Amino acid sequence: MIEYRFGDESDEESPEYDFASGGPIDSDLMWMRRAVNQARLAAEADEVPVGALIVRGGQVLGQAHNGREQLKDPTAHAEMIAITQAASAIEDWRLEGCTLYVTLEPCAMCAGAILLARIPRVVFGASDPKGGAVHSLYQLLTDPRQNHRCEVVPGVLGPQCGQLLTQFFAAKRAMGKK
Ligand SMILES: [Zn+2]
Repeated sequence: MIEYRFGDESDEESPEYDFASGGPIDSDLMWMRRAVNQARLAAEADEVPVGALIVRGGQVLGQAHNGREQLKDPTAHAEMIAITQAASAIEDWRLEGCTLYVTLEPCAMCAGAILLARIPRVVFGASDPKGGAVHSLYQLLTDPRQNHRCEVVPGVLGPQCGQLLTQFFAAKRAMGKK
């Protein structure tokens, strides 16, 4: 069973983190709500509900949800699909000036892709204590040994993002018991 940790009090940012180089800005909440909508679409498609959005200068360059089951592809995480869409939209693999919003802390694969795409800013919702590679298990985006580092803003709509996951897995377990 996978457990996702999420706070219970505020529905906005989680004050417990201090590794971020900046806090959320006003538009972060707005974009994160769109990422949450993507996560809801994933749940409707019976996919683990994680959604991602890539924004630059107020323009959405990519938005996707986890598509592992539909695409039969272990790499079809929301962030990976959104990164490919954004690079294609601007015809450049360097996603400079972009912010990636994702409802769950990125895994090692996605954190690797974020670094390769040179995305300068990542905003995420719920922490993933079992697979997160931004602060939970590894700190890939802020490792000082790397050339490229990101500004990371954690915990934006964290409880809401986490709740989608816990509800999804609770429903799965309930179905399994029938
Ligand atoms: Zn991932």
